[in-house]
Amino acid sequence: MLDADFFRRWMTATAASVDREAERLTALDSPIGDADHGSNLQRGFTAVTAALEKETPSTPGAILILAGRQLISTVGGASGPLYGTLLRRTGKALGDAAEVDRAQLAEALRAGVDAVMTLGGAAPGDKTMIDALVPGVDALGVSFGAARDAAEQGALATTPLQARKGRASYLGERSIGHQDPGATSSALLVAGLVEAAGE
Ligand code: ADP
Ligand code: MG
Ligand code: MG
Repeated sequence: MLDADFFRRWMTATAASVDREAERLTALDSPIGDADHGSNLQRGFTAVTAALEKETPSTPGAILILAGRQLISTVGGASGPLYGTLLRRTGKALGDAAEVDRAQLAEALRAGVDAVMTLGGAAPGDKTMIDALVPGVDALGVSFGAARDAAEQGALATTPLQARKGRASYLGERSIGHQDPGATSSALLVAGLVEAAGE
């Protein structure tokens, strides 16, 4: 079972990998964006870890709701409200359970990803974070490792796509040939589950 400590480890592991990869995320956001994705998420996840230390929420749902709220209030870019919605909606779906299993987490994350699609209007294939999140959540029924691999593949598979949502879509065909920064950070978020599980 996955308890509050698992969810805290998930957030801190993601914050650490965002720190490590911030320059790469910003570099990916340079040719097809405004070169701020790494710094946006670094600011956001630094606020997440600080808030989790200060407020010590005690359930999985409360942890994700607090984390989502921090991302919405500290990340200026498009990705803040989108990731914030993902975590808040996922947390809401977990309710006030003290522990959840992987299948319940997968179901809750699916509700979160659906909320991101509703908010941002992106569908799979539009070259956004959705292209890593959907395969990641789909594979979560198998294992955390399978989810990480599927999300990474999904992020890599955005390279030949033309962007249809977000800033990169302004470039039209010139967005082809570049990996999407948001799909890349979503793969880090999914990979954080493996670290939290200690696998
Ligand atoms: P901004 O574009 O405002 O500078 P970021 O650089 O932080 O924001 O995030 C850009 C990423 O956000 C993109 O790479 C893409 O994955 C994601 N994104 C942008 N718009 C949408 C959308 N409508 N739906 C889903 N994801 C989106
Ligand atoms: Mg940007
Ligand atoms: Mg920006």
